[in-house]
Amino acid sequence: MNLHEYQSKLRFAEYGIPIPKGRVARDPQEAYEIAKELGGPVVVKAQVLTGGRGKAGGVKLARTPEEAQQRADEILGMNIKDHKVLKVLIDPASEIRAEIYLGVTNDRAARKPLIMASAEGGMDIEEVNRVSPEKIIREHIDPFLGLRDYQIRNLAYGIELPRELWKQFMQIARGLYRAYSESDATLAEINPLIIDGSGNLLAVDGKMSIDDNALFRQPQLAEMRDTSAEPTAETEARAAGLSYVKLDGEIGCMVNGAGLAMATMDMTKLFGGSPANFLDIGGGAKADKVAAALRIILVDPNVKAVLFNIFGGITRCDEVALGIIEALDEVKTGLPMVVRLVGTNEEEGRRIIDEANIPNMVGAATLADAARKAVEAARNVQG
Ligand code: GDP
Ligand code: MN
Repeated sequence: MNLHEYQSKLRFAEYGIPIPKGRVARDPQEAYEIAKELGGPVVVKAQVLTGGRGKAGGVKLARTPEEAQQRADEILGMNIKDHKVLKVLIDPASEIRAEIYLGVTNDRAARKPLIMASAEGGMDIEEVNRVSPEKIIREHIDPFLGLRDYQIRNLAYGIELPRELWKQFMQIARGLYRAYSESDATLAEINPLIIDGSGNLLAVDGKMSIDDNALFRQPQLAEMRDTSAEPTAETEARAAGLSYVKLDGEIGCMVNGAGLAMATMDMTKLFGGSPANFLDIGGGAKADKVAAALRIILVDPNVKAVLFNIFGGITRCDEVALGIIEALDEVKTGLPMVVRLVGTNEEEGRRIIDEANIPNMVGAATLADAARKAVEAARNVQG
């Protein structure tokens, strides 16, 4: 689950990180009032659960309350990478002398949290990593020891931070790591952390991602979930109890079991295709769950073919077959579909599919066969 910028920054502030004292507005009038209250120039910022708002025109400066109202009017309702802007943050504008990146994330390969800093703040960190990875200073954190002061000094030294700011930087880095670990976050990032007009550090942008599996023990954070702002497919998937991750390929995959789902994705790649999603319908999935999963897959306009790979164990193939038929009653599609059903009640499952006589659906005996057929079918679909 991702938090909005304003939510992340409020969380950071609880850990002693300095942030601008702004507030959120839902309409231009409110933006006007906040700007007036703050006095002086402000920055009007789209609150959407995606990055790169600046480049998309979602971050604008305003000198007067009237101008703030106008900018808010322009930004509210804007569409940024498929996210509609429903709220704007009105922050006092800062004079920016330097932009720094500071972030903590989970390095799965190292099985440790990783703190990173770069003097190339303000830019997309993935881009910095691609073009000049040496400009990112990294320190792995031992979860039992926590972030050590010498590690923070290494970061400060590596990004050539002026000495007089080291003390502030120390406090911010410590706070960020605590915010990260105490929130069960997978990411806590300040980009940019600026040196402002008075020569102090200030967290101008903030982002936090919380591990969904930990939300049960983070009720305060769970409450912050903004379903109006997240892609509807993900909200729907969660409501239906499905594990779903959208990707940008063209083969919609419906699989039971996370490992099998990953193997299926790999297999589509092996045959020259690319998966549109990761989707695990879980063990023992019944018809309604399958229907929800299919609906979610078909909403994605990139999907050119659907691949069902069901290994019946607790999940019964006949139940899944019924689910597919039921879903197709509801969601009409002309897209090619490939079904592989093996395991518990497979004959029954195949009979149900055969008898339904769906013209755009073919069966497959093995996973390789299914993946090959799906990739070929997708290639033959126009557009
Ligand atoms: P993002 O594009 O979604 O990462 O949004 P940011 O909050 O990081 O804003 C993008 C850029 O806008 C920053 O890197 C800054 O260069 C600029 N910006 C943001 N806030 C201010 C501000 O208060 N004053 C000035 N001058 N620029 C700002
Ligand atoms: Mn940013």
